[in-house]
Amino acid sequence: MIPRVSRRTFLKTATATTAASYAARVLPAWAAVDRGSVAISPPLNTFAYSEVELFDGPMKSQFEQNHARFLNLDDDRLLKVFRQVAGLPAPGEDMGGWYDLNGFSLERNDFHGFIAGHTFGQYVSGLARAYAVTGSEPTRAKINRLVKGYSETLDPKAKFFADYRLPAYTYDKLSCGLIDAHEFARDPVAMDVHEKLTHAIVPYLPEKALSRQEQRSRPHEDTSFTWDETYTLPENLFLAYQRSGKQFYRDMATRFLEDDTYFGPLSEGNNVLPFEHAYSHVNAFSSAMQSYITLGSEKHLRAAKNGFEMLVNTQSFATGGWGPNEAFGEPGTGQLGDSLALTHASFETPCGAYGHFKITRYLLRVTKDAQYGDSMERVLYNTILGAWPIQADGTSFYYSDYATNGKKVWYGQKWPCCSGTFPQLAADYHISTYLRSADGVYVNLFTPSRVQWNDGGGHYGLKQETKYPFDNKIQIQVSGSHAKDYTLYLRIPSWASPAPVISVNGRRVSDPVQPGTFAAIRRPWKDGDRVELELAMPLRLEPVDRNHPNLVALLQGPLALFAVADSQPSFDRNALLQAKAANNATSDWVATSANGSNVTMRPFMNIDKESYSTYVLLKT
Ligand SMILES: [Zn+2]
Repeated sequence: MIPRVSRRTFLKTATATTAASYAARVLPAWAAVDRGSVAISPPLNTFAYSEVELFDGPMKSQFEQNHARFLNLDDDRLLKVFRQVAGLPAPGEDMGGWYDLNGFSLERNDFHGFIAGHTFGQYVSGLARAYAVTGSEPTRAKINRLVKGYSETLDPKAKFFADYRLPAYTYDKLSCGLIDAHEFARDPVAMDVHEKLTHAIVPYLPEKALSRQEQRSRPHEDTSFTWDETYTLPENLFLAYQRSGKQFYRDMATRFLEDDTYFGPLSEGNNVLPFEHAYSHVNAFSSAMQSYITLGSEKHLRAAKNGFEMLVNTQSFATGGWGPNEAFGEPGTGQLGDSLALTHASFETPCGAYGHFKITRYLLRVTKDAQYGDSMERVLYNTILGAWPIQADGTSFYYSDYATNGKKVWYGQKWPCCSGTFPQLAADYHISTYLRSADGVYVNLFTPSRVQWNDGGGHYGLKQETKYPFDNKIQIQVSGSHAKDYTLYLRIPSWASPAPVISVNGRRVSDPVQPGTFAAIRRPWKDGDRVELELAMPLRLEPVDRNHPNLVALLQGPLALFAVADSQPSFDRNALLQAKAANNATSDWVATSANGSNVTMRPFMNIDKESYSTYVLLKT
C-alpha cells in the first residue's frame, strides 16, 4: 500500500532530518526559498485522516452518506460542463441546478445553471479526504478518473473561464480538489494539472484581491470580477506552494491577501466585518492563517484571531451559526435579533460550518486555546449535524432557520455551494477530533471514536466511549504496545461548571480542573488505563443580542434547545431554567411556558419537519 502523506506529516518532515523520499523531493525548494521568512510549525498538528476512526453516531453517518453520495455520482455528469466548453464529446445527463452551463431549457421552460462546474473541485476534495480515511480503492480510482477527465478539458488558456461569472471562486475549489487528490490519493498528475490551471487562470483574475466595495466601483462592463471571491485564494495557493516548492504559488498567494481593506484593519482591531459576505470572509481567515504558517506573518495571525473574536462576539447566534442572509451586520444595532423577524436564511450551514471548522482548527493548532474547540463543537451540534443529507438529485440543505417561527427546508436549487463543502467537512470530522503535540495528544471533540498512532517503534491508541452531548460522561481507554510517558489533554468546555471531574483508573485526579482550558494529565500511560471525564452541563440562557435581552435561547452544555411549537412561546425566566429532561428515550427537554403548557425543547440534530423557535420570549 502506498503511504498516504498528510499535511501534518509534511509539516513535521519539513523540520525533521528523517524526511521520507516524498518529502525530500519537495523540501529543498520549500526550504531554500524560505530562507528570507520563517515558516511556522504550529505546536499542535492534526493526525492523518487514516489514524482516526469514528464509531457509530451522527458524525460517522454524515461522513458515510457523503462518501457514498459522491462515489456513486456518474463521472460523465460531473465532467459534462467542462467537456461541453472544450468541444469534446459530453455524454451523460446534465447535473442540474447551479452546476450546469447557463442557458434556457426548452424542455423545462426555465433558465438553468448558475456557476458551471463550481463544485467539481470540492467533490474531488471530499472524495480524496474520504479515501484518506477509508483507503477505499474504488474511491481512489474515481479520483484518478476525474482528475484525468478534467485535465483533458483544460487548454493552456483555460477558455472554460472566458465570460465566466466567478473565475476565482471556481478556481479556488478546483485548486483545493487537485491539491487533495495529490496529497491524499497520490494522484500522479494532479499537481501538474494544478500548475497548468493556475497559469491559465491568471488573465481572468484582477491584479489583487478585491473587496466587494472595490468590485462595485469597477466599470460595469467588467462583469467577470463582479462578486468574485479573490480574497479566499491564498490558502490553497500557499498549500500548493508547500506541495511543490514553486515560488510563483507563493508570490500569487501573497498578491491575493486582502491586506488593505480586510486583514490590515482586522490585525489592528478594527471591525470591518459589517456588510461583508459572511462565509467567504470567514473562509478568508484561513488564508490569513496560511500566511502565518507559511511566511510567519504575525499580522495575519492577529487578523485571523481578531476577526474570529469579532465573529463570535458580534455576529453569532447561540447555535454558533452566523451571518443572516449571508451578511455580517453592524455590532450594537441589534441586527441579529432583528433578523429573526426578517429572514429564514439565518446561517449558511454546510459552507459556514466548513469554514468555521477550518479556522477553529487552525487557531487551535497555533494557540492551544480551548475556546476554539468550544466554538467548533457548538457549530457541530447545533448546525451541521442537523443538516439533512444531500439527495441523489443534488437537493441540499443550505440555510438553518432561526426565524421566530422556523422550519427546516430544502434549498430551491440543486447542487449549490453547500453540496461542495458538506463532503469536505464530514471527512474533516476525523482530523478535528484529536490533535497531536510534541508532548502528547489533545482530545478536542467528545464522540465515539479511536485514534491510533506509531511513535518510536511503539503503537499507541485512545478509544472514546460516550453518548455526549446527550450524556455528560466520557470514557477513554488507553492502549499501547509499551508503557509511555506522555500528556493526555482533555478539553474542558468553558460552560462546564461547577468543577468537572477527571478520574484515572477509578481514582479522581486531585489537581483542580479549570473550565475553558485543556486539562493536562501527564504520566506513564500503559495498555488498559482508563480515564473518565464527567462534565457538569448546566442549563443557561443566552440572549440573541444586547438590544433584545428578552429573546433568549436555552442551552444545556454544548446544545441549544429549540422550542418545538407553531408559534414562539414565552416563558418565565426561572421556569425555563427549570426545564427537565423528558422522561423518555429521546434527548428532548420539557419546559413550562408562561401560559402553563408544556413545551418540548429539542436539539437541532433531532428536529425534522416540525416547526420550532430557536429563541423564545422571556416574560417581563
Ligand atoms: Zn453554501
